[in-house]
Parts: sequence; C-alpha cells; structure tokens
Amino acid sequence: MEKARLGRTGLMVSRLGFGGIPIQRLNEAEAVTLLHRCLDLGINFLDTATAYTTSEGFIGKAIKGRREGLVLATKSTARDPDRLRKHMERSLQSLGTDVIDVYQLHAVDDMESYNIVTAPGGLLDTLNEAREEGKLRYTGLTSHVLEVALKAARSGMFDTVQFPYNFVAREADAGLLPACLDNDIGFIAMKPMGGGFLEDASLAMKFLLQSPYVHPIVGVYTMEQVEELARIVAGDWGLAPEEEQRMKQIAAETDNKYCRHCYYCQPCPQEILICEVMAFPLYLKRSVPSFYMTGWVADNMEKAGACTECAECEPRCPFNLPIREMMRDNAALYQRLKAG
Ligand code: SF4
Ligand code: SF4
Repeated sequence: MEKARLGRTGLMVSRLGFGGIPIQRLNEAEAVTLLHRCLDLGINFLDTATAYTTSEGFIGKAIKGRREGLVLATKSTARDPDRLRKHMERSLQSLGTDVIDVYQLHAVDDMESYNIVTAPGGLLDTLNEAREEGKLRYTGLTSHVLEVALKAARSGMFDTVQFPYNFVAREADAGLLPACLDNDIGFIAMKPMGGGFLEDASLAMKFLLQSPYVHPIVGVYTMEQVEELARIVAGDWGLAPEEEQRMKQIAAETDNKYCRHCYYCQPCPQEILICEVMAFPLYLKRSVPSFYMTGWVADNMEKAGACTECAECEPRCPFNLPIREMMRDNAALYQRLKAG
C-alpha cells in the first residue's frame, strides 16, 4: 500500500491508517484476525488510545512478532503527569512494545487545558522526558477545537496534530492544514468517515487521498470494510466531476446535521454535554453497549431528558444545528434502548 510522510517525524505511514475505536465491538480472536488482514494489506499506521478499553490489548496481540515497520500511535486523556506515566506504561505493556511511535495528548479541547499541558512542568514536559528515556519517539496532540489545534500546530511543540477532517467537516482547510504544512507537522485526520456519519466510503476516502499531507485513520470492524477501503486506496483516486458534485450535495444536505464536537454550544444550564448527545446515534454504530448504555455517556443521556429547550445553545452553534430537536430525538432513542 502506498505510504506518505507523516510530517517532520519522517515516518512513512500507509495512506489508509487503522482507527482503533470500533474493534472494541469484537472479541479478541475476531479483532486479531481483522488486524492481521490489515497488516497483510500493507496498513502500517495504527492509532488507538488508553480510553478505547480493549483496543490497545487487541492490537498488541495482533502485532506480536510483526512490530517492525509499524507506526503505533496511542493517546491519553490524563491531565496530570503521574496519571500520564501510568497510562503510558499501560500502553507499552498492552501493545507489547518497548517504544510508542507517536504518543498523543488526547482531546485537549479548550485553551485552558492547552495552556496547562504546555506550561513548564506540564504534560508536554513529561512526554519529552519519556522521549529521552526511549519510551516514545514523537509527541502529538488531538483536539476537536480548531483554536487549540491551530495553536498546537503553530507552536511547533508537537510533531503531529489530530483533528476531525472529512468532506463535510472541512474547518481545517482554512488555517490548520496550512499551519501543519508550514511547520512540517503531521496532520492526522480524525473522523474521516464522520464517525460513521458518512456512508459512502469511496467518496470519503477518495477525498482524503487527494492530499499526501492528510493521514486518515479509519475505524473499521468488519473484513468487508477493510477490503473495500484497501481496494479504494489501490485503485484510481481521481474524483470524477459527478463525484465532486455528489460530495458538494451531501455536504450541503448534511452540514447542519453533523455535529463537529467543537463545544462552542456549551455551557448548558442543565449541564448537558451537548455534543455527546448529538453523537449518540453514531456511538450505536461503532461502540459496544457497555460504552453508550452505562457510565458517563448514559449519565449524560439521562440529563438530555432534562433539556428545558431554553435554546441558549443554538445561536452559539456555528453550524446551525437544530440542537433542541436533536436533543429530543436522541434522548428518546436512548430511553427506547434502555427500555429494551
Ligand atoms: S436548549 Fe437544552 S441543551 Fe440547549 S442550553 Fe437549553 S437546556 Fe441545554
Ligand atoms: S452542536 Fe454545534 S456547537 Fe455544539 S458541538 Fe456540535 S457542532 Fe459544535
């Protein structure tokens, strides 16, 4: 499979990267079989996270004896150095490796957090110490918030930046992608299929393949998905005029239905984490019930039922999402699932 350079890391990564969220739906044997097929097809770029429950362990099992040539990326949501160290050790162990190629600070989604992680003695310093100890090779940051991702790219303090990017969510085009290019920062495209929102894999993948500076990590959990994506990457990526037209049409039709997870609509007086309610139907497609029917996701969905429809959030959404309507629909969907 064709590879491209991941910014200043110099690492050559397959144009199709493996996103580690959906394999949480599989058992170990299924995940290992799927991953082996990915490796056989030439996928060498695997992205996961401590937060993705079984994902790191499944990847560790699958790459045993096949580590050479792979680029392993993982991430931690830790916000203090001790916890970050613990997560890192757990990742090294689960992945069965001595060194992680790209270690990212996960979901740095507000400027306050960004300032904390990059301050002297903050998490970035911890990552740099770990790099000197040989536990990781390159550092990265992931964010859903454009200002944060932009600041990280311009600062030159991280080797990679991971941000949502697909043919509907193209907010990175204006400033972030050029900033990554100017500073030679590797740009990792999160949610290349819109987190399950975009159903035409061919269109979505071809769009991303147009630039060698965009490195999509696609979440897959079936052999059919893997084979289809690999076929697309091996084929002709040229976009026919009718495909360009179709992309524009889908983007226009879905622009105000697709939540970018950007947090601009917050805060909510009922303390509802709005983007998580918006994402609920997508979680059903890619995650296991233990993720979306228990814990903080379920707690938040319970709160969604308490939305007073005050509408304070809606003018703050740059994409004009009908938040109240989506809140009602998704809260009702959760309650139906809960009732069985
Ligand atoms: S409309 Fe609902 S979700 Fe939006 S701010 Fe008001 S209570 Fe929160
Ligand atoms: S509802 Fe709008 S403002 Fe809120 S996270 Fe989604 S896209 Fe961003």
